[in-house]
Amino acid sequence: MKNLTPAMRQYLEIKEAHRDCIIFFRMGDFYEMFFEDAEIASRVLEITLTSRNKGKENAIPLCGVPWHAASAYISKLIENGHKVAICEQMEDPKDAKGIVKREVVRIVTPGLVVDSDNLSAKENNFLAGISALDGSFGLAFVDISTGEFRVTESDDREAFLDEIAGLEFREVVVREDLKESDLMEAFAIRSGDCSISFLPSDYFSVEGASDLIDEFFSEKREVDFDGHPAMTGAAGAVLRYVKETQKDRLNHINDVLWYDITNYLVLDDTAKKNLELFATIQGGRKRGSLFHVLDETTTAMGGRKLRWWLNYPLVDPDRIRIRLAAVSEIKEEHLLRENLRASLAGIYDLERLGSRVSMGVANGRDLLALGRSLRLIPAIKDTISELESSLISSICGELDDMPDVADLIGVAIVDDPPVTIRDGYVIKKGYDDELDKLISLCTDGKKWIAAMEGRERKRTGIGGLKVGFNNVFGYYIEVTKANSDMVPEDYVRKQTLVNAERYINQELKEYEVLVLGAEERRKKREYELFVDIRERIAREIMRIQRTASRLADLDAIASLAEVAEMYNYCCPRVNDEDMIKIKGGRHPVVERMNPNGGFVPNDTLLDRSGNRFLIITGPNMAGKSTYIRQTAVIVLMAQMGSFVPADEAEIGIVDRIFTRVGAGDSLSGGQSTFMVEMTEVAGILKNASLRSLILLDEVGRGTSTFDGLSIAWAVSEHIHDPDKLGARTLFATHYHELTDLARTMDGVRNLSIAVKEWGDRVIFLRTIVEGGTNRSYGIEVARLAGVHEDVISRAREVLGNLEKGELDEIGMPRIARGKPSRKGGNVGQLDLFAGEENPDMSGLINELKGLDVLNMTPMEALGKISEWQKMVKD
Ligand code: ADP
Repeated sequence: MKNLTPAMRQYLEIKEAHRDCIIFFRMGDFYEMFFEDAEIASRVLEITLTSRNKGKENAIPLCGVPWHAASAYISKLIENGHKVAICEQMEDPKDAKGIVKREVVRIVTPGLVVDSDNLSAKENNFLAGISALDGSFGLAFVDISTGEFRVTESDDREAFLDEIAGLEFREVVVREDLKESDLMEAFAIRSGDCSISFLPSDYFSVEGASDLIDEFFSEKREVDFDGHPAMTGAAGAVLRYVKETQKDRLNHINDVLWYDITNYLVLDDTAKKNLELFATIQGGRKRGSLFHVLDETTTAMGGRKLRWWLNYPLVDPDRIRIRLAAVSEIKEEHLLRENLRASLAGIYDLERLGSRVSMGVANGRDLLALGRSLRLIPAIKDTISELESSLISSICGELDDMPDVADLIGVAIVDDPPVTIRDGYVIKKGYDDELDKLISLCTDGKKWIAAMEGRERKRTGIGGLKVGFNNVFGYYIEVTKANSDMVPEDYVRKQTLVNAERYINQELKEYEVLVLGAEERRKKREYELFVDIRERIAREIMRIQRTASRLADLDAIASLAEVAEMYNYCCPRVNDEDMIKIKGGRHPVVERMNPNGGFVPNDTLLDRSGNRFLIITGPNMAGKSTYIRQTAVIVLMAQMGSFVPADEAEIGIVDRIFTRVGAGDSLSGGQSTFMVEMTEVAGILKNASLRSLILLDEVGRGTSTFDGLSIAWAVSEHIHDPDKLGARTLFATHYHELTDLARTMDGVRNLSIAVKEWGDRVIFLRTIVEGGTNRSYGIEVARLAGVHEDVISRAREVLGNLEKGELDEIGMPRIARGKPSRKGGNVGQLDLFAGEENPDMSGLINELKGLDVLNMTPMEALGKISEWQKMVKD
């Protein structure tokens, strides 16, 4: 410490207080990093590592980035899992007595990014707090770029875990002592690349939380925290963390919304992934996801709102119908929709702009964008004022075009402001008298000199009098020596040249003082005015937020209407009944991949009696998965308030969608795939209710045939049984043996996907038909996929042998069954169905099948039984 300069000592103190952050230490036009920070940053940012006092004993590693380019570097560090503390100079170095005062003004962490360049426009950036207390799980999360703050609590650990995994938080804060807990372990498995920060337990204390909750949210808040200690603790931790990192400017976080996960159609993380709501399973791309098809929003806020709706479909038919009515109305009004969407397209991200204003980081361009957006609102209100649906009318009533704010920005901010607000040229002329004077001093210098020159020539009668300026002597009045005797008394001599004298007078002296400081004073004045304007607008933050949220609703509705028309969707009828009845249903995404009308529509009928368990058989690639997913997606779209890809649809509300869809297939092989599959099945059996919709795709595939089949069979029986579950289910399988379930279970219906055989080829017709199928056409699929012809013909040969019973399932000659070499392992299970002790039953079964029981006498029947008994005994 002793040999360090004062600046380095200051640095070390700041670093000590923010040990977990990389310090961006402002020095003039650069942010510098030192010591270990410099080593990390130079590596991550690929910038040169140098050192202070290079070559000397006390050399300090150093690297730096220019201040104006800092945001991209910060974002790269955040992406790499670091936190960044921005340490600014708090005074002008020129005014500083001794070392310049510096302070950390903001800490940027993955969940706390406000810079719109580094945020994805149509996605929220959530920071969450998680707490567990006395069997209750509390969640609070905030997007500081928009001000949205939500809380919930649940006693159901699994549902809670699904909820927190599904929200894709960027960062989570958790109580330190939960670090090693099962809860965090389960969360870490499900939460992808979310960054987790552990905080001391006092961050989560209920007392501390209550104070912060009162400080942030008005007394009129609708959320009652009493009796919810887990949720309160989580909210307190988030608020304190945000407050500490953002240094207090948080007026935009002023409302807290409570939601109950049971008020929405629950979609766990697996279901979201399997139904490809936001990203494809293969490659995680946005294109090819359901959101990508539905998103025709024109504003970023609308995009986020639509995302929220898709994440949280509703379960209350009345609320759904309200949304559908709004979508319907806008869909019918073509011209209006076109105008509306065109106006919306001009609106900037008011939520994020509002937050930037409130946090004191908005610049001139942000205010201009805000002002321009507000100016479009009257036209939008006008466009929708005639509409009658209740949702649109309420939106129209609540849109506030804020003329006061728009006018203020209009008169104050220039049309093309620079990025920075400290260098002037942001405020318009005419807004402030003092500034106008400074501006004219800076820019009108020449005019002023010419005017004075004219005045003085006239007054003194000296035609050749000149007013000028030089760097050494400043302003002067120059008169040739020949005219020196005409110089008035108030001129004071300053300099003598060969042929002329230079003077100054009181007026020119005053002007000089004014002008020389004018540029600096102009910058300062503009900055003060700008900050004042920004603060005045910040006071209106709640109005901005409310209007932004309503515009987002409107944009999301318009998007659904646009999509409904573009792709010919129908308005679903939603109710509280059991029936899901879809006529001519299509998969919205697969259909788009096949835009030339190649998609074959199919009907679905599910209820809770005779059609509650649909088994769909058919060869691989026939379209089974597509069919079952399309049913789930149509239900989900209907419940979010969207039109659906079908000719007609009646949807009896679903409380939860479960999926066991072959997603794990490509993830990992062998045992672990099967484990994943069985964990999912276990979750479904445990958590599904009578109102749920279950999709099962190829359950049991990850293990040996008979294991798999047995599990699939038992799972089906369990789900089908109304005393145990009885939920509506679609089960796609290539185990055609399962079609036998229909013989004994009244709710099972067999469906298959039609294929046409053409010689030894197969053509997929993609049409769902009644009845099961008993052929898998696997070899034809292999051929379609381009497997070598030799292999195909050998496969046909082996299949022939298997079918004739010459080989068993693992390709061994039947004769070997039960011999010592085959003991143990999975293969032993084959004996459950056909063992050496059992004679070949096929003849007997064929005979049994062919009997005309109704036309037999009891004696004839008895005779047959005794004949068979003899065969078995022999
Ligand atoms: P399976 O689950 O039976 O193996 P998939 O559902 O994966 O089959 O469908 C295989 C392919 O068939 C899909 O990639 C899709 O392009 C196409 N497909 C599925 N259903 C249809 C349909 N109804 N109309 C047109 N093409 C379809």
